[in-house]
Amino acid sequence: MDVAWVLSGAAGFVIGAMVTFVWRYDERRRDLDVPAEPAPVVPLGADAVLKVLSSSAVIVDASDEVCRASAAAVAMGIVRDDQLHPPALLDLVHQVRRDGQVREADVEVPVRRSAPLQVHARVAPLTSRLVLVLAEDRTQAQRVEMIRRDFVANVSHELKTPIGAIKLLAEAVSEATDDPEAVDRFSSRMIGEAERLTRLVQQIIDLSRLQNDVLSDDAMPIKVGELVAEACEHSLTDAEAKEIDLRHTIEPDLLVHGDRAQLHAAVSNLVENAVTYSPDGSRVAVTAKRDGDDIRITVSDNGVGISSDEVDRIFERFYRVDPARARATGGTGLGLSIVKHVAASNGGSVEVWSEPGLGSTFTLVLPSHTEPDEEKT
Ligand code: ADP
Repeated sequence: MDVAWVLSGAAGFVIGAMVTFVWRYDERRRDLDVPAEPAPVVPLGADAVLKVLSSSAVIVDASDEVCRASAAAVAMGIVRDDQLHPPALLDLVHQVRRDGQVREADVEVPVRRSAPLQVHARVAPLTSRLVLVLAEDRTQAQRVEMIRRDFVANVSHELKTPIGAIKLLAEAVSEATDDPEAVDRFSSRMIGEAERLTRLVQQIIDLSRLQNDVLSDDAMPIKVGELVAEACEHSLTDAEAKEIDLRHTIEPDLLVHGDRAQLHAAVSNLVENAVTYSPDGSRVAVTAKRDGDDIRITVSDNGVGISSDEVDRIFERFYRVDPARARATGGTGLGLSIVKHVAASNGGSVEVWSEPGLGSTFTLVLPSHTEPDEEKT
């Protein structure tokens, strides 16, 4: 009997201790779980909206912590360790929280080892405690806009020169009606300026069509032999006038797939430059050969060459190593820019080797085209 009492007493003690422990544990756990402030309620469907938004989206709570961020926002670098970045964005959030007004601003987002991103932010109140930040990376758009503005300014400047010259020459002609020799001289210079103007306008049109570096709808298989022969033919008169030995050597059956007019302009530009920047009596060699999956069209001259610090700049629009000389040769500074864009638009690239006093070699590298029948065999 005593034993039964002792046993039931012990069991009661153990059960009591266990109940106390479980109750205490639960209380402690509740203590830990319950935050100081209730979690902010993100409106229903906000997560789904954030996922489909193309712009970067961030939701910031009342304590300035990021409580939702789209993957694009994190990739853009405006969220770091659950904080909005840079501080300028957080300032906007504070202003919006204060008066509930939607705000927009352009902010720079620093990027490690590169130029900062130009970000356009739109900040709006989402609930009484949450603020929504939408950010759009406008770096590329701003760069394109800057290039466009530069281009328009350059075009206006370049067009003014021959137009001004033509006007002056026309005035000179009208004042020299009793001097046939002077009229002859002025009018032939006028023709030269008009030709320069025509060439400039044509190149500007070519370049504006090529800006996007995408393959044109007119792409077709092209025989490289014909392309090179036509480009050499185009410069033959100028080469003969300077007694330059202009030759081409082309491997048979080379084909590329591209826009014929564009590729013709590119190869012609390279050959024309080689003739223009070479001394009388020198040699210009054009070769085309297969190199794995590529075709390499190479134009080599023994001309003036280009110094290493200029080589990087010659593909820029309107860049001329020697502007005074370019005026004499009729150069526009657009030729190589066109070559570069033609190469890119047709899936290729352009390489250059040059040494002042020794000469230059420009190589247009294009993917080789294989006719479907050849692929099967
Ligand atoms: P341009 O109409 O002035 O020839 P390009 O864009 O074709 O314009 O060339 C830019 C500059 O690069 C030229 O002004 C010239 O100084 C230099 N250049 C181009 N090709 C050659 C070459 N084969 N040899 C030496 N210099 C060259």
